[in-house]
Amino acid sequence: MIELALSMGEKAFRGRQLFQWVHQKQAGSFDEMTNLSHQFREQLKSKFVLPAMTVFQKQISRKKDTIKYLFLLPDGNVIESVWMKYRYGNSVCVSSQVGCRMGCTFCASTLNGLTRNLTAGEMLSQVYEIQKDTGERVSHVIVMGMGEPLDNFASVVRFVRLLSDEKGICISQRNITVSTCGLTEAIRDLMREHLQISLAISLHAPNDEIRQKTMPVAKRYPIEEIFEVCREYVEQTGRRITFEYSMIAGVNDRKEHAEELSRRCKGLNCHVNLIPLNEVKERDCRRSGEAEIERFKSVLEKNHINVTVRREMGSDIDAACGQLRKNYLETS
Ligand code: SAH
Repeated sequence: MIELALSMGEKAFRGRQLFQWVHQKQAGSFDEMTNLSHQFREQLKSKFVLPAMTVFQKQISRKKDTIKYLFLLPDGNVIESVWMKYRYGNSVCVSSQVGCRMGCTFCASTLNGLTRNLTAGEMLSQVYEIQKDTGERVSHVIVMGMGEPLDNFASVVRFVRLLSDEKGICISQRNITVSTCGLTEAIRDLMREHLQISLAISLHAPNDEIRQKTMPVAKRYPIEEIFEVCREYVEQTGRRITFEYSMIAGVNDRKEHAEELSRRCKGLNCHVNLIPLNEVKERDCRRSGEAEIERFKSVLEKNHINVTVRREMGSDIDAACGQLRKNYLETS
């Protein structure tokens, strides 16, 4: 923002003040920025829009621990974000794209493909607007909303850096998680950024054959390669990797699948998060039964693999994993 201020004929410190207004105080309009000159504010107004998005609709779960926000962007697109209240703090699940082009057969976000990438500012705005609306500090951010974050690499990296900037909202990188369906080259690029974030991989299968049935990307990125890059990631960062595994009845939930997954995970500093599938009406994938989920979990435990079943939050307001969509207007 220093360059921006200079390019508009202002001094460098005006750029720093502007940064503080936008990222630390999360100003809702340029008029609030009272220490900037009227002329500078008018110039900014003619070039930029604040806030970058507005709350269009809000749904609160029965337990009041989850809120799904629908944001309207200036170009008419709509995105969804989710606020979740935990004992350890408040977490926001942000979208990284309008739609998604990965095509996973169980997920609503990809139903109509990709419309466009979100900018780093649009990802930040989701966090800022939610923090303002709830009046509570956001301590954790997960990039697990609509979109494939590593398909929008540069903006996501920029987002992480701004989110953790000590002059901004200052959320520790250790409290930021980026989830990917396993784009291995991009994971290697991410390693070169030397961020302190947590990485989650959407695995959903113990082998390529099953993975390819539900995840078209599995044809380009074999599971062997994904584990290879995960080992490199853990070695380089010293951080534990999370594998997300949505349990789909009759597809990936058998005992032998759990055994095969255990063999792959052995010796790797990882954690498996089992997600009871959230059924999406346009898709014919069904959720595994509770008994199958328990059996799967106990096989992993027997093999000393860290495993938890994800606590369901917000499924009554369609805010759970895989339920975020861009075309809610046509479907709700
Ligand atoms: N594209 C990224 C970010 C999405 S994160 C990724 O694939 O990781 C959302 C998580 O929810 C992913 O693990 C995704 O595979 C999972 N998911 C998608 N649809 C789901 C559904 N219907 N039920 C449960 N989990 C689902």
